[in-house]
Amino acid sequence: MVSLKPLAPAPGGLTLGAIKRPELNAPVNRVLPFSCVDGPGSRMVVFFQGCNMRCVTCHNPQTIGHCNHCLDCVPHCPHQALQDASVNGKRRLQHKADQCERCDHCLPHCERSGSPYARRYGVEQLLNEIADHALLLDGVTFSGGEATQQHRFLTELQARLKRHPKAAHLSLLIDSNGLLDTAQWAPLLTHSDGVMLDIKAMDPALHKRLTGRDNAKVLASARHLAEQDKLAELRFLVIVNQNDSQEELDALAAFIKSLPGTRPLKLNGFRHHGVGDTAKTWPETPNERLKAIAQWFVEQGIDARVNGEF
Ligand code: SF4
Ligand code: SF4
Repeated sequence: MVSLKPLAPAPGGLTLGAIKRPELNAPVNRVLPFSCVDGPGSRMVVFFQGCNMRCVTCHNPQTIGHCNHCLDCVPHCPHQALQDASVNGKRRLQHKADQCERCDHCLPHCERSGSPYARRYGVEQLLNEIADHALLLDGVTFSGGEATQQHRFLTELQARLKRHPKAAHLSLLIDSNGLLDTAQWAPLLTHSDGVMLDIKAMDPALHKRLTGRDNAKVLASARHLAEQDKLAELRFLVIVNQNDSQEELDALAAFIKSLPGTRPLKLNGFRHHGVGDTAKTWPETPNERLKAIAQWFVEQGIDARVNGEF
């Protein structure tokens, strides 16, 4: 997959009569122009910056936090792309996009789990970026971080994409942890083709230990999305000795069967790539275990797939 160098900050805003309303903008960690693993077909993927879970097994921890301009990362860039741009004693990090090689050497030095190269995009800027690539795409996946933390931005962007002559054919999918309040889904779903939702665990205490958050809203989101026919896919990261007990699997199967409609359950195996010290002490999930669990779900009448294999 190819990474895209960030563009210049968004200009302008919207003019409503005599009142100029500032254009909505959102923090974006990066934009992948093409991916074939983030939903069906060839897709652009927008990774928003910022997440409201703290998953022990997160393989993208640099998308969790927001930069507070502490400048700790500056000396660790081998390409002088990070500079101290403080003014009048106010600390300010400057990221020089044209010098950044995306080597990621800076990332481990951010204690806030932020990313020096995350930047704010305006709706117009991201709209144009997507439209420029649209001819070669089947769709766009909005991921993160947690995309729904930017739900107002995303609502407007999706509405404009569906009206755009070059982009109207694109399927728009949201990759979510499900923490958005049920009432806040409605505007977001108006122009969305579906949501790919992660369920980390069924037991609330276990869920809290794995993510830092209770799972009541996640399960409520799954049910709401299924009722709206917008639950495109469920995902379950299998972590050996953590959430793969028969009790957990039984509870997940019962929950899935209680939802209206059908959609695939995508099973992924826990891997060490990118995770923190605690999760590194846990074993990676063997493919045989993953396949056995998938087979068990299939026997329960659930369309379970290992990384899209089944
Ligand atoms: S990814 Fe980070 S360390 Fe690497 S060039 Fe860019 S700013 Fe510097
Ligand atoms: S990216 Fe992290 S380390 Fe760098 S200035 Fe921002 S908060 Fe500090």
